[in-house]
Amino acid sequence: MTTNGDVSQGAARDESTSDQTGNDRARATVVVAREAGACYGVERALRMVGEAANQAGEVHTLGPLIHNPRVVRDLASVGVSEVDSLDGLRPGSTVVVRTHGVVPSIVDEARALGLGVLDATCPHVKKVHDSVSLLRSQGYQIVIVGDPGHPEVEAIVGYAGDDAIVVNDPDQLADVRIRPRVGVVAQTTQTHALLQAVVSRLTERAAEVRVFTTICSATRRRQQAAAELAGHADVIVVVGGRNSGNTSRLAQICRARCARTHHIEGEDELESAWFEGARVIGITAGASTPSSQIMSMRDAIVAMTGAKVEDDRE
Ligand code: SF4
Repeated sequence: MTTNGDVSQGAARDESTSDQTGNDRARATVVVAREAGACYGVERALRMVGEAANQAGEVHTLGPLIHNPRVVRDLASVGVSEVDSLDGLRPGSTVVVRTHGVVPSIVDEARALGLGVLDATCPHVKKVHDSVSLLRSQGYQIVIVGDPGHPEVEAIVGYAGDDAIVVNDPDQLADVRIRPRVGVVAQTTQTHALLQAVVSRLTERAAEVRVFTTICSATRRRQQAAAELAGHADVIVVVGGRNSGNTSRLAQICRARCARTHHIEGEDELESAWFEGARVIGITAGASTPSSQIMSMRDAIVAMTGAKVEDDRE
């Protein structure tokens, strides 16, 4: 759908707009991917922290709230600071548990220190914690399909117990003792294909395999939409933190289909030369990029190129 309103200046200049280099940009179109930007869990966490920042008292996030340096900087400007541990925090201040969750002992420790806890764990991640707690209470050996060391996986292990097995490749089960009753969960961002491969391998060795399908589709949907857009765009701009794994993965997917892919964090990094001769300019963003950053990028590209706007999401 072509939109009007605050971004319609580009469309209004249709047929007559030339850029600074004299190239005719009249028929260029800016398209935002059908699925792009902050997912439900991230939007929820940002809202919760924003509300906490408006109240009296110190607010600290345990690690960066999301992998987006501009958002972290904006939070710092309203008094929300990032800490690595609970050490030295003043009683009465609030610690924020981010979307990945944390091991339960950290929440207990925070409360014992007199800190408030704002739990922004994504409800989808919470379901993984609930599933492993149930499996553990019923005596299952727990297998987590996930990346060892990832904060979400470390938190899940905190609920599953130290004897939980973490694998991101079915071959890793080869040297592991498997008990007769096994319960399986997945890190929310893993693929169904990997979960199925691990479960299939376990059924060869265990008498009972109980599986909770705890995969969140937000990442996959963003990747599919980015791939579709990159398949017909001349240029793709991927918006989001360079330290964001899911945003970098989107850039990789786009680059495989559109060589003129640029992964940037803000509109101040745009270069007009990127858009020379482009007819379709695509924008996508990872799950840690708020929609306000996508809209700022869209508006900046329109202002730079005179392109009109088409938003797949409207
Ligand atoms: Fe929650 Fe899914 Fe977003 Fe992760 S990707 S924070 S599980 S909505």
